Amino acid sequence: MLDQRSGCRLLVLGAHPDDAEIHAGGLIARHAALGTTIRLVSVTDGRSGHHEIQPDDLVTIRREEARAAGQLIGADSVTWDFPDGGLQADLALRAAIIREIRSFAPDLVLTHRPWDYHPDHRAVAQAVQDACYLVTVPHIAADVPVLPRDPVVASMVDLFTRPQRFEPHVLLDISHELDTLVRMAACHASQVFQWLPYHDDLLESLPDGEAERLLWLKQWFMTINEKRKTHFQAELKARGLTNALAIEAYEISEYARPLDSAERERLFPGGK
Ligand SMILES: [Zn+2]
Repeated sequence: MLDQRSGCRLLVLGAHPDDAEIHAGGLIARHAALGTTIRLVSVTDGRSGHHEIQPDDLVTIRREEARAAGQLIGADSVTWDFPDGGLQADLALRAAIIREIRSFAPDLVLTHRPWDYHPDHRAVAQAVQDACYLVTVPHIAADVPVLPRDPVVASMVDLFTRPQRFEPHVLLDISHELDTLVRMAACHASQVFQWLPYHDDLLESLPDGEAERLLWLKQWFMTINEKRKTHFQAELKARGLTNALAIEAYEISEYARPLDSAERERLFPGGK
């Protein structure tokens, strides 16, 4: 089973240590089950995501949380040192992303969209967008050899509408990956059981036991999922996915390699 898809490589460039799981955990878990080589990168160190834990301590905690989440599915998970909340799409970030894409040589890169509520998400999205063409230009970041061809680059789902709505080129029924996604997300305890409930005023509803917390987290995720399903109602209906319990959506970048029909099933297994 593990060698079934040998050669397929997935790189996720998220702004924060929990972005990959929350925005693309279903596709990541599906690829993991199929033996894809997966690398999850948090571009920032996550130092700002808490109301009580001090930033330097939080970096250590979140680095370990991300590592544990990756380990659950056999993925390599790394956290870079750019400061959480202070990320800019500058030349240093662009060069780091060019080097990462070249050295990992992914078939598929997942990242944010440049239209998003969080400035760090926007910065990563912009830097990946800027890197798409330059990964093939030898004199840029010349210490790492260029790739013979671009990977396919796709944005992870968001529901923002200005300046433009997310176009779901691929919709994925992730019902079978839901439990794995929740267990991965639960590794980010400082976020899903502390900071996010604090920020969203949900601490009162948070139970104590481990099993109860997993169920609570699944319900939290299903609330997000219901918003996705409402947002993409027309497309879900058109592609026969109205009954999917949980979904993800992906928008293919125009600046990297187009997703042709031959590669569609390999990169987005089961996608509609
Ligand atoms: Zn984030």
